[in-house]
Amino acid sequence: MGNKAYNPYENMLSVLDQAAGKLGLARSDYETLRYPERELTVSIPVKMDNGEIKVFEGYRVQHNSSRGPYKGGIRYHQDSNLDEVKALSAWMSFKCAVVNIPYGGAKGGIKVDPRELSRDELIRLTRRYTTRILPIIGPDQDIPAPDVNTNGEVMGWIMDTYSMFKGHSVPGVVTGKPLEIGGSIGRPEATGRGVTIITLQCLKNMGLDADAQTYAIQGMGNVGGTAASIFYETGKKIVAVGDYSGGVYKEDGLNIPEILAFLSDRKNCLKDYQAEGVAHITNDELLTCKCDVLIPAALENQITEENADRIQAKVIVEAANGPTTVEADEILNKKGIIVVPDILANAGGVVVSYFEWVQNIQSMAWDLDEVNKTLEKIMLKAYNDVDNMAKEKNSTMRMGAYMVAINRIVTAGKMRGGPISMA
Ligand code: GLU
Repeated sequence: MGNKAYNPYENMLSVLDQAAGKLGLARSDYETLRYPERELTVSIPVKMDNGEIKVFEGYRVQHNSSRGPYKGGIRYHQDSNLDEVKALSAWMSFKCAVVNIPYGGAKGGIKVDPRELSRDELIRLTRRYTTRILPIIGPDQDIPAPDVNTNGEVMGWIMDTYSMFKGHSVPGVVTGKPLEIGGSIGRPEATGRGVTIITLQCLKNMGLDADAQTYAIQGMGNVGGTAASIFYETGKKIVAVGDYSGGVYKEDGLNIPEILAFLSDRKNCLKDYQAEGVAHITNDELLTCKCDVLIPAALENQITEENADRIQAKVIVEAANGPTTVEADEILNKKGIIVVPDILANAGGVVVSYFEWVQNIQSMAWDLDEVNKTLEKIMLKAYNDVDNMAKEKNSTMRMGAYMVAINRIVTAGKMRGGPISMA
């Protein structure tokens, strides 16, 4: 959906320029942030189960390394392309800076619909992709993680392939691994948990009782599903949820555990979910339904100038990366809807990725309490930093978050002697 001309990289640049301007930076102070440091496009030949060879296209883009090694997920999606991955890599740089963890930003992607591949084909695809990006990844260099349609199992295959080439086990090359091979407890739920921490903090700041609000969530994957679960378990009323097939609505609250149990069979999707009092709605109806808190937890370019004006929520918490276009942002701002930006709202995943990486380096394992407490501390500190910046500069939270991030990245770059110090 959305307008045809949408380009996520252009969207990112326009927000970056605006925030840098508000910070009073000259173009030359942040010019480097407008370009990824490295872009790699690879071809991935895969022997399909029927014996045919199919060639897929993959990417790994490294945006900025001023604050540390590159960090960011890998997504498998039929619509993935270089501009999308470039934008996502920049958002990772900003995200890591907002929560102040010592990483730069990167992202990877493969243009593939993983539902059309068998498990064996997916393993071969993942292993070949890993060998293609192998020269530029590593625990001190660039550390991938899960993203849309990838998970711990896929990370295990990447870790194994990388380790085979090195001749020894290198758990720290990826995060989001299964527990048994060096993953962190709490990592699969971390992004969704972070979204709930940030949502509650935002409502508290607005003087609203979180238990008295209604919630709508677009996306029932790892992030949307976990956020829905945590909200449900803590007594919140979720009136609408959606996935790629459509949405469901129930005014007095959906039964989230039942929906997630239904969806746990991968063949099922929401359009086939039936329960008493549950109405089926379109994606557009989900985004514009009567609710207080709207949580887009799917893909980019969902809240656009076509629907922004009809959105009824008071607060939008961006659990997805880049769900709102620049044009929509302006409309929401005029309507007085608070938007908690992606680079703050969904940073919980990469924060616990950081914990995982630290645990790998130290060959230690933290317990769940330590993970969740430290996650909460970091998320709330980031929320405060963003809120203070937004207040100081009289701006939206998105601008506040970008200003915090750009400031940290530009300062780090300067302390290293600046981008032209080699000249
Ligand atoms: N893919 C997640 C994100 O967009 C997590 C990245 C990571 O853990 O490195 O933030």
